Amino acid sequence: MIQDIAPHRMANEYLPDAVPKAGDYVLYVRGQDVAVRRTEDEGKLGFELPFVGEQGVPTEGLTYLFSLDDCSCWLAPNTGLADVPEGFGLVHNRVLRMEGRGPRELMYVVYTAVHLGGWYAGNRYCGRCGGELVHHSTLRALTCPACGNTIFPRINPAVIVCVRDPKRNKIVITRYARGRYIPIDALVAGFVEIGETIED
Ligand SMILES: [Zn+2]
Repeated sequence: MIQDIAPHRMANEYLPDAVPKAGDYVLYVRGQDVAVRRTEDEGKLGFELPFVGEQGVPTEGLTYLFSLDDCSCWLAPNTGLADVPEGFGLVHNRVLRMEGRGPRELMYVVYTAVHLGGWYAGNRYCGRCGGELVHHSTLRALTCPACGNTIFPRINPAVIVCVRDPKRNKIVITRYARGRYIPIDALVAGFVEIGETIED
């Protein structure tokens, strides 16, 4: 699974007092795209992320995301599509993964950054009063100075199960309706809706 990055460790708590230091990763998230430099070393496909200290990478206006081992990961301000550092290109996070690129721990960084970057980009104004949101002083949250509304990152619980008949060595497979997606066979899976349990 994508989160299996041992012996590396991602620490996802928000650190309000963190300061960018040389070598920290900087994530340019543009929708589902992230700025990376594709690499190839003796046939092995990889990628690199922009880091603090590299030409064209800002040290101001960065938002702290999380850390990978001793390295902090920052979200770059979004000033437009063309603002990624020279030598880097925007790539869809799934394309990067399907290409089989590593290292694994950086792929996990990319996916988590896309998740958080999308949340920050989609929550600039208060849904209750329309006021401009600011970052919470201590938590990973956005707050509205006008009405006190607090918004935490959204997660979307989902479940996937394998229903087995071990005696006959069979499993239950579902098929998506044609035309909606590519017709594929899949395990029983879905999002957890309001009022449902994971088991439902
Ligand atoms: Zn408000």
